[in-house]
Amino acid sequence: MNSSEAPPTARPRLSFVIPCYNEQEVLGELHRRVKAAGGSLDATYEIILVNDGSSDGTLDVMVSLAATDPTLVVVDLSRNHGHQLALSAGLQVSRGERVLVLDADLQDPPELVGEMMALMDGGSDVVYAQRRTRRGDAPMKRLACAAFYRVLTWLADRPIPLDTGDFRLLSRRVVDEIVRMPECHRFIRGMVSWVGYKQVPFAYDRKGRFAGETKYPLIRLVTLALDGIVTSSTRPLMLATYAGGLFALLCVGLIVYALYSWLFVGETPQGWTSLMIIVTLLGSVQLLVLGIVGQYVGRVHEQVRGRPIFIIRDIIRGTPNA
Ligand code: UDP
Ligand code: MG
Repeated sequence: MNSSEAPPTARPRLSFVIPCYNEQEVLGELHRRVKAAGGSLDATYEIILVNDGSSDGTLDVMVSLAATDPTLVVVDLSRNHGHQLALSAGLQVSRGERVLVLDADLQDPPELVGEMMALMDGGSDVVYAQRRTRRGDAPMKRLACAAFYRVLTWLADRPIPLDTGDFRLLSRRVVDEIVRMPECHRFIRGMVSWVGYKQVPFAYDRKGRFAGETKYPLIRLVTLALDGIVTSSTRPLMLATYAGGLFALLCVGLIVYALYSWLFVGETPQGWTSLMIIVTLLGSVQLLVLGIVGQYVGRVHEQVRGRPIFIIRDIIRGTPNA
């Protein structure tokens, strides 16, 4: 056993947790770079690769890497659960005193781990990587994400740092709290922020994807954004109530205007167009408010079913080179 491998019962100093969905093209390079980064630390480490129900050769590549690498742990999920749940499964299996969460596509450079560890030595529980630049993402996506983070910051009950992903170093007690949270709609960066303790930023330049395509099409990004807002805040419900109040006032104004015209001007206001505008306006506001309430009720429904939030098919622990 070389010095970087922890004995099976002891906690390694660091766990890398990496969710992977159809990432067969990047796994070889990812493994090489994470091993180099881990080896450069004077610490024991494990690498947790979560296979999130991939339909390509991701699992086969993982298993063949594990055949010669005792630091590797492959967590195979029963199906595709989505990035946030795959990440949650990885956190649950991890044993490290600290955990570095990163994406498989090498947009988050593993080589930064040394600096992040050093920053945490200063007494913080979370070192969150904050994007100075983000190459490789389409301009529209960058714009949408920037807008989303600003809306989220405004809405969230607990401040969530701007322009961060899930690339962050967590202490064991923060990971334990996240694992303990039973919610099935998970927005991990919001949950981490909620836990508290000392959390410090670490500025970095986000690279382009090493290979393959994004696994976050627009619809998944929208779902993540909605999860982010609904799980971090009930303020949209408050806003819906305010909107109701505002439109009630508008209606009172219209009634007063109609009565005034009838009593003092001697005619009632007429007009199909204005009537239709008011009716459709009120109808759409009602549907919008109902939709907001529905976002919460739907999630409550899924939560009370009490199903497990992910299912692990198998855990394959790496073995030393025979
Ligand atoms: N991912 C996952 N399950 C999914 C979708 C994505 O585990 O259902 C992983 C993916 O393999 C990657 C990370 O989540 O490691 C981020 O995905 P991606 O890089 O495609 O997102 P983007 O950087 O384009 O937002
Ligand atoms: Mg990516």
